[in-house]
Amino acid sequence: MHKSGTKKIPFYSKWIQPINRQKELLQDANMSSSRLLLPGLLSLIAAFFEGLTIGLLIPIAKGIIEMDFAFVREMPFFKGIIMRFPRLFITPNSSIFIFLLMIIFSTAVMKNALSYFSLLSIDFQRRKFNSNVRKLLMRRYLSFGKLFFDRNSQGHLINTLIYFTDLAARRIEIIHMMIKWSMVAAVYFIIMCIISWRLTIFVLIAPPILYYSLKWLVKKIKRTSRDFAEYKSKLSGMAYNIFSCVSLIKLATTEKNEMEKFDHTSDQVEAFEFSMDKKVRLIEPLQEIILLMIILLLITAMAFLIIKNRSGEIAGFLVYFYLLRRSAAAFSNLTSEWGMLARTRGPLNDILKIFDDRKKYFVLDGKRELASIKDKIEINNLNYSYIPELQVLNDLTFSIEKGKVTAIVGPSGAGKTTLVHLLLRFYDCPPSSVMIDGVDIREFTIKSLRAHMALVSQETLMFNDTIRANITYGIGKVDDKMLLDVAKKARLHEFIERLPDGFNTLIGDRGVKLSGGEKQRVAIARALLKGSEILILDEATSSLDSITERLIQEAIKEAVKNRTAIVIAHRLSTIKNSDKIVIIENGRLMEQGSLDELLKKKGKFCKYWNEQKFF
Ligand code: ADP
Repeated sequence: MHKSGTKKIPFYSKWIQPINRQKELLQDANMSSSRLLLPGLLSLIAAFFEGLTIGLLIPIAKGIIEMDFAFVREMPFFKGIIMRFPRLFITPNSSIFIFLLMIIFSTAVMKNALSYFSLLSIDFQRRKFNSNVRKLLMRRYLSFGKLFFDRNSQGHLINTLIYFTDLAARRIEIIHMMIKWSMVAAVYFIIMCIISWRLTIFVLIAPPILYYSLKWLVKKIKRTSRDFAEYKSKLSGMAYNIFSCVSLIKLATTEKNEMEKFDHTSDQVEAFEFSMDKKVRLIEPLQEIILLMIILLLITAMAFLIIKNRSGEIAGFLVYFYLLRRSAAAFSNLTSEWGMLARTRGPLNDILKIFDDRKKYFVLDGKRELASIKDKIEINNLNYSYIPELQVLNDLTFSIEKGKVTAIVGPSGAGKTTLVHLLLRFYDCPPSSVMIDGVDIREFTIKSLRAHMALVSQETLMFNDTIRANITYGIGKVDDKMLLDVAKKARLHEFIERLPDGFNTLIGDRGVKLSGGEKQRVAIARALLKGSEILILDEATSSLDSITERLIQEAIKEAVKNRTAIVIAHRLSTIKNSDKIVIIENGRLMEQGSLDELLKKKGKFCKYWNEQKFF
C-alpha cells in the first residue's frame, strides 16, 4: 500500500546530515566561510609555488645531462627575462644555471612563507573555534532546565566542555590539512599530466582503490572513538565523584576500592585509545603497499615508454618519478588525516548532542513581568512526577497568603522540596497548577519571578569565593554599611569579625571552611540583602548547638519579617510562629490550617505535635 505523507529520505542524507550539523556548529561558533577559506587559499598558492620549484628541476636536470642550458633561452617564460637582461647572460651556461637555481630558491622561500602563514591561520582558527564552542556550550548548558543537570553526570558535562571541545577543534586543522594535501596532490597531478598524460591516467586509479580499501578501517576507528568518548566521560565522572565525596570515602576507608574502579576505567580508556592508535597506524603501511603496487605498475610503463621513445625524455621521467614519490607521500598524509578525523568523531558527537533539543528539559520563559504579589499564591490540583512511573506530587491544593508565614511539614520524601522547586520554576509544572494572583506562573518571565523570591536552602549553594562575594552574589555592588547591616541581621557579624580577613575570607569549595550553621546564616544574609517579597526557607534538619540554634532562629525571624514566607519546617519554634501549617505525606495534602485549628482537629498534625516530632 502506498504510504501517503511519509517523506522519502534521500539515500545521501546519511552523509549530508552530519555535515549540515557540523556546518551549523561552525556558523554558531562564528567561523565565517571566508575565514575558513583563507588557509586553503594560502595552501593552494603554496602548492603552486611548490609545483614551480619541482617543475624547474626538469630544465636543471636536462641541462646537466646534456651539459648545455642553451635550450632554456627558447622556453616561453625564460625567454622574455633573458632577452630583457642580455648583459647578465653573457656566459650562457653558468649564468642560466645560476639563474635557474635562484628562481628555484625564491619559489621555495615563497612556498614555505605561504605554508607558514597558512598553518598560522589554521592554528588561529582552531583556537578560536575551540574557545567559541566552549563558550557556546556553557551558554547552552545554562539554558537547560535543572532536570538536565539531575540526569547527567557533572564529570561528563565538564569533560565535554573542556576536553572534547579541544578534540573537536582539532578537526579544523585536520580538514585544512586534508585540503592542503589534496591540493598538493592535484598540483603534482597536473605537472605529471604535463610530463606524460598517458602515464598519469594510471594514477587516477589510486584514489578510489585507496578509499575503498581504507573505508572499513576508518569506520572502525569512528566506532571505537564513540566508545572512547563514553569511557573518557565516565572517567571524568568518577574523578568528580571521588573528589566530591572524599570525606565519605575516607570514612568508609574505601580508598582501595575507588582506586581499583578508577584504575579499571582508566585502563579501558587507554585500551580504546590504543585500539584507535593501532587502526590509525595501520592506514599508513596499508596504503603504502597499495601505492607501491601502483607505482611499480607506473615504473614498468615508464620504462616501456623510455625504451620505445627517445632518451631525451629521461630528465622528464626522473622528475616524474620524483613527483610520484611525493604524490604518494601527499596521499599518505591525506589518508592519515582521514584516520585522525575519524578519531575525533566520538567527542564531536557528544558536543553535537548537547546542541540538539532532546532531553534538555527547558523551562520555557513567559512574557509577563511580575510586578508584585497582591494577594496569594495558589497551588491548584498540582501533580508532578520526575519519571512517569513515580508520581511525586498528587493533586495538591492549598494557598500561600501574602505577608504570612506558611509552614510545610511532612516526612522526608513527601515532596516538599519538589514543591518549592516548582514554585521557583527549576522544573516545569503543569499549566494552571501554580498561580500568583490568578495568573499561571508559567506566564511570568522567569527573571521577574525569581527576582521576587529568595531561597535559603539546606543544600550548600556556595561558590568557592569570599564571604562577601557569596552574600552579594547576583545582587551587584553593595556598600560596606549595607553588608554589615545584613550580616548583623543574619547574626553573622560576630563570626566575621573574628576572621583575620573578615568579609574577604575565602570559604573553599561549596563553603567547606564554614560550619553548617554559618553556611545557613550566609544564605540568610544573601536572602536579606536580596530583599525579595517571598522567602523560601528549607530549615536545617540536623540539630545544632543551642547558641547556633538561637542565632539561626533570630536570623530567620529577621528574614521573614514583612515577607511572604514559605518554610519547610522541622522546628517547633518555627511551626509555632507560622500563620498556616500544611501537612504533606507521599505528595498528598493531609491537613492544613492554623496551629489552633490543627490541634483542635486532633488529626495527623496533632499526633506529630504530641510526639514533638517534625522530621
Ligand atoms: P522532601 O523534600 O519532602 O524530602 P523531595 O521533594 O526531595 O522530598 O522528594 C520527593 C520524591 O521525589 C522522592 O521520592 C525523591 O526520590 C524524588 N526526587 C526528588 N528529586 C528528584 C529528581 N531530581 N529526580 C527524580 N526523582 C526525584
